[in-house]
Amino acid sequence: MPELPEVQAVVDSIKPLFLSRKIIEIKNPNSYKSVFATHSLEKLNGLVLNKRIKNVFRKGKYILIELESGYLAVHLRMTGNFKTSSDNESDAKHISVEFILDNKKSVYYKDYRKFGRIYYFNDLNYLENKLGCEPLSKDFDYQFLKHGLSKSKSMIKSKLLDQSFIAGLGNIYVDESLWLAKIHPEKKSDTISGIKIRRLSDAIPMILKKAIEHNGTTIINFSFGNDSIGSYKEKLNVFGKTGEVCIRCKKSKIVKIFVSQRGTHFCSRCQKK
Ligand SMILES: [Zn+2]
Repeated sequence: MPELPEVQAVVDSIKPLFLSRKIIEIKNPNSYKSVFATHSLEKLNGLVLNKRIKNVFRKGKYILIELESGYLAVHLRMTGNFKTSSDNESDAKHISVEFILDNKKSVYYKDYRKFGRIYYFNDLNYLENKLGCEPLSKDFDYQFLKHGLSKSKSMIKSKLLDQSFIAGLGNIYVDESLWLAKIHPEKKSDTISGIKIRRLSDAIPMILKKAIEHNGTTIINFSFGNDSIGSYKEKLNVFGKTGEVCIRCKKSKIVKIFVSQRGTHFCSRCQKK
């Protein structure tokens, strides 16, 4: 599932296509109506018609297309992506949405698994209430993390996946951050030492920034900008490394457990409970 760095890669790839354009029409080529989460296709068309696009940016795992008034928001969920053509047949049948722009070009939203959703919001209040701290903003620091974790009895892995606490993290970057900070994924949030919280507050933005430089991680099906893939997979230390020797301690093998039903990778020697 795309996390913050993957969503950022998609934003960077579609921004030049949408910026300063107007949407002339939104179409639903394969009649998959559930993709529209907040408004019917007809209403949505009325809301976006002829409004110039002022910006395209990311908030948590949401892509936001800012119009002269209002916002289109896209959540990619498992397999959503954008393309500039619908040429081949396998693409065509998975295209849920076509955005026809005022330059006569189209941008296609393709979603093989069809869990992705398109929203329309008048303002950002809903998302701002729903989403927690942006981990690359100045609000995210040791004090924020220490305060938040001290009030939580949840396992740290679950807490970091909670989008209302920190927006944008998912399975890959939580496992990588906990490994780097040497924290066991099942450790209760309010029992983590200050030293480890300090390491975690450094690890999260550091890993995310590096992953953004690599356009995210493609394990199976993440792609952006007409089938480009992210290359951060080469840099992963623990995610998907089950059975491989930990590259830090060089003694234990990476194990996989399930925490809140999420596959979780860690080194039991480096990340003690
Ligand atoms: Zn280790």
